[in-house]
Amino acid sequence: MKSKVYIETFGCQMNVADTERAATGLRKAGYDLTPVAAGADVVLLNTCSVRERAERKVFRRINEIRSEAKRAGQHKPLIGVMGCVAQLEGETIFQDAPAVDLIIGTQATDRLPGLIERAQGGEASVIDLEERRAGEVWDISPAERRSAYVAFVPIIEGCNKFCSFCIVPYSRGREKSRSALEIVSEVSRLRSLGYKEVQLIGQNVNSYRPKTQVGLEGYSGATPFSRLLRAVAATGMERIKFTTSFPRDFHPDIVCALEEFPNLCDWIHLPVQSGSDRILKAMRRGHTADDYLRRVAVIKQSKRRLSLTSDIIVGFPGESALDFENTLKLVRGCQYDGLFIFKYSKRAGTPAASLEDAVPDAEKKARFLALEELQESLQQRVYGEYVGKKISVLAERESARSIDDMTGHSTCNKVVNFRRGQTQPGEIVDVLISEVKPYSLYGELVADRVN
Ligand code: SAM
Repeated sequence: MKSKVYIETFGCQMNVADTERAATGLRKAGYDLTPVAAGADVVLLNTCSVRERAERKVFRRINEIRSEAKRAGQHKPLIGVMGCVAQLEGETIFQDAPAVDLIIGTQATDRLPGLIERAQGGEASVIDLEERRAGEVWDISPAERRSAYVAFVPIIEGCNKFCSFCIVPYSRGREKSRSALEIVSEVSRLRSLGYKEVQLIGQNVNSYRPKTQVGLEGYSGATPFSRLLRAVAATGMERIKFTTSFPRDFHPDIVCALEEFPNLCDWIHLPVQSGSDRILKAMRRGHTADDYLRRVAVIKQSKRRLSLTSDIIVGFPGESALDFENTLKLVRGCQYDGLFIFKYSKRAGTPAASLEDAVPDAEKKARFLALEELQESLQQRVYGEYVGKKISVLAERESARSIDDMTGHSTCNKVVNFRRGQTQPGEIVDVLISEVKPYSLYGELVADRVN
């Protein structure tokens, strides 16, 4: 009988894509994938280390899995730790969590079948933290994708930015771009399989820099990324989103590409992290608040109404009340469509970890709440502008609140709930917005669109 493997994913879209890639390889090697941990022969936790809380969650989960199997009278499954925590902590995980049998680094995904086989053959403490090997390619089978309508397409892995707070360059290595040819043909294939939306993903998508220009011939653009956007748009894929953009590499030509191709969606995620130049310098972001605002001005002046979202860290070491005031000021000025707020979390091995002058937890929490309150009030106004407007929504599933409603995302990446009528998941429909909720829009179906 085939061994059953369960993969649980934590963290960002890159981890989701890595899980899909791992599942593809495992299925090809003859393993069965199961959606639940109970009864699995192998449990893999694909981990995130961007904040300490995410990291601690993994160790709690390992204990839960072990005790759940014991309670059910089953053998302990083989337990593997994949992803960022695996890459960073390496061997020490075996000491801290003796129930763990396998450690699979961020670039060892394609070698999983062989690693599991070794562990199943009785080898103790199997570990692979090596780089990707030549010839290993992104290959994700549609059967392993999380959604049948929206597909994540990684275009760049790793990060060269070395922001002082961030662990990513250490957990995911240096930036490595996929070839444009490979990306464009994957998007075309997804289109022919009926996918309605692709999300081009990477830590910094706009730092895209492939080794060759093959696949970009015939597409103009000021940077390889804006050429790639045009090449992907030319496939005719209905909706194309991309995330995350790094401010320093945000060229205005990205906005030009969005104006030329309506299938490039009207949403830009451009994390600023702080509104204080002093803190931005300590964060080693390589841009000032004004540099950032100049890019925002280009986005806001676009012919299209482009939705803008951001990430902000509060309580970075040394952040004074005045620095935080500057963040509030920047947020008021940007009128974001959405904001992810994080309390600074010290990550061992990053330059910021050795900075003194930590902001007390109570103060971090107070700043978090103040920024959240400000954003909520600004967001109500931004969302209010959609009332009475018709927006295009990809219906994803039945709403959790009511069987009469469906939920999906707009091209501007807002959650939209609406009276479903005859709508089926996977359809793109027009919705007339009638109501604003704290983090979503509500509306009525205008008419089912022919898909
Ligand atoms: N590369 C992107 C950038 O910085 O522009 C974002 C990648 S990161 C995985 C996602 C978000 O997590 C960051 O934008 C940042 O706001 C937050 N983050 C990263 N490291 C953090 C830390 N040590 N403490 C708190 N938040 C952090």
